[in-house]
This record gives sequence, structure tokens and C-alpha cells, in this order.
Amino acid sequence: MITDYIDLRSDTVTKPSAGMRKAMADAEVGDDVFGEDPTVNRLQEKVAGLLGKEAGLYVASGVMSNQLALKSHTNPGDEVIVERDSHIFNYETAAPALLSGIQLNPVPGMRGLMTAEDVEESIRPEVYYMMPTRLVCLENTHNRGGGTIYPLALIGKIREVAARHNLKYHLDGARLWNASVATGIKVSEYAKHFDSVSVCLSKGLGAPVGSVLTGTREYIDRARRFRKIFGGGMRQAGIIAAAGLYALENNIDRLSEDHEKAKTFAGMIANSKQFEINVDYVETNIVIFGLKPPIRMDQFIGDAKSAGVLLSAGTAGKVRAVMHMDVSLEKVRKAAETLLKYRVD
Ligand SMILES: *Cc1c(COP(=O)(O)O)cnc(C)c1O
Repeated sequence: MITDYIDLRSDTVTKPSAGMRKAMADAEVGDDVFGEDPTVNRLQEKVAGLLGKEAGLYVASGVMSNQLALKSHTNPGDEVIVERDSHIFNYETAAPALLSGIQLNPVPGMRGLMTAEDVEESIRPEVYYMMPTRLVCLENTHNRGGGTIYPLALIGKIREVAARHNLKYHLDGARLWNASVATGIKVSEYAKHFDSVSVCLSKGLGAPVGSVLTGTREYIDRARRFRKIFGGGMRQAGIIAAAGLYALENNIDRLSEDHEKAKTFAGMIANSKQFEINVDYVETNIVIFGLKPPIRMDQFIGDAKSAGVLLSAGTAGKVRAVMHMDVSLEKVRKAAETLLKYRVD
């Protein structure tokens, strides 16, 4: 039996480090439903400050953060523009319909990126027999797109379209720090274009739980009420918020190491005729690659597991490998070498 799998399924598999656990154990806490948890308050202020927003709201997950963002921007019967491969459209289990009574309008993109023209063409005309378009959502970096970075100029162009049509603009920035570290562009430079920005602490940053939604104070007050309605009011949440603060203080700059691992891994597997990969598309910590026939994805993922490498299924029959802090460059090389030995029989 294999006990030390090289786990490249997701950057969510990381476990809290000793330093992070100590910060959690030492956290000052209070009842956050009363707004009295000093650690939660510090985390919310810190994230809002880094993103250049008035206020932040600590929530249990990235899905909750996105769903609160949608709920707080819309009314039932509204429509929201998202990219077809976006997390909101694919992995949030129809929550927009269930929780907000809204409809998503999925626009096809290129590796997750929509054009400003496609966004503009998807906005509904203002006639009584059509649903009002209320909001546009982007995802940076784009998960199913393969860790794609949204160019700042494109973010600005789409913002102009949104502003011209009086639409709100939300960013699912689950991996915004990956984009920032890869480009050198501050997260606040990205965030300033948006009315609301959600960031995850439990992806590459390595915290065990938590996301933060940011925006104006008034907007966040609205989101806080909905968080309670959704059952997301937490009490001594400083215990977990402390891990988020620790992650922001210690784990941002090191994301560049994950990007290096992704490039190394992609470069190595590009040497095999069995795999299809464009190494130029590897921009951050996610590697997506295709399999040449007759290799079948489910079988490949199963065989890789038997050989000690855990991978996940990406978009359209492709395989996804995600780099993170709990896997060393050496292990990543070993994983690539293992996959290079793969033969279908
Ligand atoms: C992971 C992720 C989320 C949120 O996921 P949770 O598992 O709910 O924390 C949202 N958007 C993107 C792009 C993600 O990758």
C-alpha cells in the first residue's frame, strides 16, 4: 500500500503548518455574531486593506463568498453574466438559482477569459419581457482555464462595458494572489476595478478554511445579514481566522515557488508524445494537459494513483495537476517522471 502519495489534485489539500497551528492556538477570540472577535475583525480589516476596499467579511468558504456576493448585488429574476467554465457556473451546485432566484448567462471564453465585446453582446436589452442583466463576474486566476491570469487591461475594458450599462462587477479572486505574485501587479490594482472581490485563504495560501468577501461598508453590511440567513454566522471564529492572518503574513511570496513547480512539471511532461500540453499556457500553479488516444482519462487517473500520483479531472477530458506548499519541487519532478513512464497496455 502506498502511504506517501504525491497529491496534485488541488491546492486545497495542504495541512496547517506548525507555525499556523500555534497562531490558531494562541488566537484571541470573542463572539463574532456580536462582532466581538478581535482576530476575525483584524483579518477582515487586513484583507480589505490589502484589496483597497472599505470592508471585509470572513466566511466559511469560497462558494459562500461568491454566493453572498451574488445575493447582495441582485434581486430574484435578475441575470448575471459569468464565463462558461467559471467556478460559479460549474462548481456551485446551482446555488444562484436556489439561494438568489437568479439566472446565470454563461459566456464562452478562451481559457476562461471573456472579451469585452462578448460581455457587451450578452447584456439584455431593457425591455419588460426580458430579465434585467445586473452583474458581471470574472475569475482571476481562472481555475478551469488552467490558472489563467486575466490581463489588467482586459479587466478595465470589461469594467467600462459594465459601467456603461450600469452593471455591478464582481471578481472571484479565489487565487488572486497567484495572479499578483506572477505578474507583480498588486491585488489592490486588480481589485480597484470591481465592486466586490472574493479571495480564498484555503487555496495556495494554506489556511484550513475561510474566504473573505470585500466591498463598500454598506455592501458588506448587506452581505453580513445574508451570511446569517445562510447559516454562516460563526462564534469564536478567531480560531480559524488566525490561520488566515498567518497565511497572509507568511505564505504569499512563496506562491512563486508553486509557479516554478508548475513550469517544471509542464516542461517535463511536454517531452512525452502521450500528453498534449502548451507550456506557454502554464501561468501560475495549475497545469492542465490532454491525453492522446487510446489513453482514457479515468483509467489514466486510476493508474497514476496506483503509481503514487494523485491527479484530478480538468475540463473537457483533460487532466489537472495543481502545485501547492505541501509538495516539494523534488516530489513534483518525481511525479512527472512517474507519468512519463506511463504506458497503456
Ligand atoms: C476553490 C474555488 C472557489 C471556492 O471554493 P470553496 O471550496 O468553496 O472554498 C471559488 N472560486 C474558484 C475559482 C475556486 O477555485
